[in-house]
Amino acid sequence: MWRVSFKTLLAVLLCSFLFACERSPTPADAGVVDEAGFTAPSAITVGKHQQSQRALSAASQTEFMDASRGLLASPENLQVRNAQGEIIWDQPGYRFIKGQAPASVNPSLWRRAQLNNIHGLFEVVPGIYQLRGFDLANLSIIEGQSGLIVVDPLTTRETAAAAWQFFREQTGNTKPVLAIIFTHSHIDHFGGVFGVIQEQQARNGDIQVIAPKGFIKEAVSENVLLGVAMQRRAGLMYGQRLPRSARGHVDTGLGKEPAISGDVGILRPTHIIDHTPQRLMIDGMEFIFQHAPESEAPAELTFYLPALKAYCGAELVSQTLHNVYTPRGAKVRDALKWSRYIEEARQTFAEARVYFASHHWPIWGRERIDQFLRSQRDTYKYIHDQSVRMINRGFTAREIAESIALPEALQEVFSSRGYYGTVKHNSKAVYQAYMGWFDAVASNLDPLPPQQAGQGYVALAGGAKALFETARQAFDDGNYRWSAELLTHLEFSGEGNDAASELLAASYDQLGYQAESGPWRDFYLSSAFELRHGKPRKANSIAAAEQMLAEVPLELFYDALAVRILPDKVAGKRTAIGIRLTDLDAAHLLYLENSVLHHRPLQASDKTDAVLNITHAAFLKMMTGNLGLKGMLASDAVKIEGSRVRLMAFFAGLDKPAGDFAIVRP
Ligand SMILES: [Zn+2]
Repeated sequence: MWRVSFKTLLAVLLCSFLFACERSPTPADAGVVDEAGFTAPSAITVGKHQQSQRALSAASQTEFMDASRGLLASPENLQVRNAQGEIIWDQPGYRFIKGQAPASVNPSLWRRAQLNNIHGLFEVVPGIYQLRGFDLANLSIIEGQSGLIVVDPLTTRETAAAAWQFFREQTGNTKPVLAIIFTHSHIDHFGGVFGVIQEQQARNGDIQVIAPKGFIKEAVSENVLLGVAMQRRAGLMYGQRLPRSARGHVDTGLGKEPAISGDVGILRPTHIIDHTPQRLMIDGMEFIFQHAPESEAPAELTFYLPALKAYCGAELVSQTLHNVYTPRGAKVRDALKWSRYIEEARQTFAEARVYFASHHWPIWGRERIDQFLRSQRDTYKYIHDQSVRMINRGFTAREIAESIALPEALQEVFSSRGYYGTVKHNSKAVYQAYMGWFDAVASNLDPLPPQQAGQGYVALAGGAKALFETARQAFDDGNYRWSAELLTHLEFSGEGNDAASELLAASYDQLGYQAESGPWRDFYLSSAFELRHGKPRKANSIAAAEQMLAEVPLELFYDALAVRILPDKVAGKRTAIGIRLTDLDAAHLLYLENSVLHHRPLQASDKTDAVLNITHAAFLKMMTGNLGLKGMLASDAVKIEGSRVRLMAFFAGLDKPAGDFAIVRP
C-alpha cells in the first residue's frame, strides 16, 4: 500500500432553466473587443445562433429536471484551494452562465453549460448519493449494510475533500468508508482518493479497492511517453488560459473543467474486475460488474446493483457524444467495441430502473434508460459503420467528416450531441484507426511542410497583401474556416504581420463562438488567445509527479529515455550504461547503437562503460528533471562504477523538451 501526492498531471484532463424565445442583447454581448482581445460575435455568428436558439427553445426540459432531481443541498460559494492557497475549483466563476445565451456562445453549448452548473449533493435513489460539480467528474456514494462505498473520488485530494465534507455535513452520515470503486484509469476518477479516506486506513487493509484489470498500469502510464506534448495540447483543449466569460471558457461539455494543481493519489486495487458478468459482495451489497476494456478508457468497468436496480455506466455512456479521438492527442479509441459494450450492458442490466454515471446527471425509469442506451450504442456504431462504408466508397477522412451526419432520430437526442466529442472528429478517428493518416492522394505522399507550403501559397496569391485581402473577404463573407486556413498559410510563411495575426485570431473567435463542442470552442479561443498574447510562459510541468510515477513500470521509463535521444549528439557512438536501482533490486542495461537506445535486464556478463547505482526515488527525480546531472552526481543516493565521463556524455545526449512549444505559429 502506498500513497502519492503531487501537482496534477493534466489528464489528462456544472440556474436558470428556461430559454426565452427571442434573444435580446445581454451585457456579455456589449463592446467590440473585450479586455482579453476577443472580438464581438459577427452578424453571421449571431444569425446562426438565432436559428439554433429557435430549435432549442422548443426542446424538452427533461434534462433540467433530471439534473436537479434529488438535489439535497448546494454549497453557496464553492471554492476549493490547494496547499499553496491557489484556487483550484471556482464554481462561482461560472455564475455568469444563466438566462439567455449571449451571442458569443453556441446556444446549445450554453444550455449544456447551464446543466453542468447545477451542482451540489443529490440523492439519486435512497441508498445512492452523488456530489456533482465539485470537479470535472461526479463522486458517487453507495450505502452498504454497515458503511459506505465510494465510486470515483474526483481528480484531487482537495476537491474530493470538499465534496466529502459537504456530504458529511448535509447528511449527518458518519458511517465509515469500506470500499472504493475506481471505474476507469482516467485521473478525474481516482486522483482525489485521499480526500475521502486516510492513507492509514488503506495501509491497514481496512478498505476494499475495486478496479478494472490493468487499472494501475494504465492510470500511471498514460502520460509518460507523450506527456509533454499532451499536456501542452490539453491546455488548449480545456481553455486553461482563457477567462471564464461569455467570450472565454464556459464548459467542457463533460463538466465545467478539470481541477488542476492539487494533490493526486492512487490506490492499488484489492479486487480486479476482468470478466462479465462478475459478481462481488461489497459490504453486504451484491454488485454485478461489466468489464469494458479499450472503450472510453483502456481499463474500464461498469456495474449494476440488483437490490437497487441501479446501473452505474461509469464513462462508457455519458450524456454527450464522447471522444473516439481526443484533440489533446491520444491513441484513437475503438468505436465498434465501445458500441458493443453498451449493447452488452443494455442486455445484461435490462432490469435497471435508474442509471447514474461518472459525469452528468442520472436517468430514471426502465424505458428511458433503455432508450438512452440504445441511442448511445447506435451513435458510436453509426459513426463507425458509415465512416467505413464511405472509406470503401473512396472518400477520405476530411470528406467523410464533411458529409457524415447522425440520423435525425439521433440528432434530436441531446446525449448524442457533440458537446465533448464530435461526429466529425470521431469519423476521422475511425478512418485513422483503419487507414492511418494517408488519404491515398499522391500529392500527399510527400507534401511540403507548413512553412514552405505557406510561402508557396503567399507567392501564388500574389504576395502577402493579396492573400490577406482574399482572407479578409472570406472573413467578411462569414467563411471563417477558409479565412483561418488562408491566414494560417500566411502566418507560417513568415510573411504575416500583426493585422494578419489579428484577422486569424478573429476568425478563431467566430469559429469558437459557433462551436457546440466545449473542446472545440476552447481550442479555437485558446489559439486566438495565443495569437494575441503569445504562448504560455512555462509548460505544464510534470516535475512534481515523481511520487505517482513510482508506480510506472521501469521499462516504460527506459522507453521514455530512448525517445529523448538527440541523434546529432550520439552519432557514431556505441555506449552501454547499466542502471541499478539499489533499493528495488532491479538492474537494466541501456545500450546505444546507430543512434538508437535499447534496454534489457542487466546480466553479470555484460560489458558496460559505466554503471549508475541509484535509488528509485533519486532516479525518478532525475527523470522528472527535479535532480539535474550535477546534483545527481553529488548526491549520496548515487554511486558510479566505471567511466564518469562516458556516463555524463550519455546523459548529455538526451533532449529536454520544455513543453512550451509554439502551436499557432511556426
Ligand atoms: Zn472522466
